[in-house]
Amino acid sequence: QIRPLIAGNWKMNGLKSALAEATAIRDALTTDPGAPEVMICPPATLLAPLADLTQGSPLAVGAQDCHAAPSGAHTGDISAEMLRDTGATAVIVGHSERRADHGEIDRIVLGKATAAHRAGLTAIVCIGETRGQREAGLTLDVVGRQLAASLPEGAGDTNTVVAYEPVWAIGTGLTPSNDDVAEVHALIRRDLEARFGAAGSRIRILYGGSVKPTNARELLALPNVNGALVGGASLKAADFLAIVRAT
Ligand code: 13P
Repeated sequence: QIRPLIAGNWKMNGLKSALAEATAIRDALTTDPGAPEVMICPPATLLAPLADLTQGSPLAVGAQDCHAAPSGAHTGDISAEMLRDTGATAVIVGHSERRADHGEIDRIVLGKATAAHRAGLTAIVCIGETRGQREAGLTLDVVGRQLAASLPEGAGDTNTVVAYEPVWAIGTGLTPSNDDVAEVHALIRRDLEARFGAAGSRIRILYGGSVKPTNARELLALPNVNGALVGGASLKAADFLAIVRAT
C-alpha cells in the first residue's frame, strides 16, 4: 500500500503573510496512519520560516527548483544542499513552467534530480505533454521519453516522486478524462518497474493540473494515482485541506 502524497506548489506566490495559510494547514493535519503525507512547496524566500513553523508537525516543506552544483559561481541560483539546510526535505524539478521559461531540457532536469539525491532531498520530477503533443497523439511517447531521460540511476521510492502534469491542464481548469489519466499513469508505472524493479512499483506517481476540491476524489481514486501536485488550489488552506481529505 503506497501512502499518498498531496503536495502544494505555491509557484511565485506568497509573501510572509502567506505563512498564516500554512499554519492553518499545519494545525488541521492529523497523524492517523491512514492520513496522506502533506507538503507545501513555497517560494524560496519562505522555505526557512515555513520549515521553522512546521518542525515536528506532519506538514513537510519542499522547494520548487535547485541548481545541479552543490555551490559555486552561479549568481541567483540555490543548490540542493542549501535547500536542505533550510529544513526542506524535497524539491520539485522539471516543472513545465521551468522547462518553458528557463529552457530546462531533460538533461538539465536529470542534473537537478541527481543533485537533490546527493543532498538527501526527495526529487519530485515533473513530466507531461503539451496540448499540441496530445492532439498529435504523442502523449505516451513524450511522457515515456521525459521519464527515461529525467530520472537518475538510483531513483527509488524513498528519494523520488514522479508528477504527471499535462501542460494544457495547468491553471486552465481542464483535466484529462479519467481514462486518459489512468493510461498515462499505467505507462509511467510500467516504465518505473521495468527500470527500478520493486522500488519502481512503490515510487509515488502524482497527478497535477487543475486539481480542485471538486475533482480531487475522482482523480485520486484512479489506479496508479498516488497523490496530487496542486497549484492554485493550494494557496487557500480550506481548498487544500479539502483535497487532502479527498484521499
Ligand atoms: P494548477 O493546480 O494551478 O493547475 O497547477 C498545477 C501545477 O502546475 C502544480 O505544479
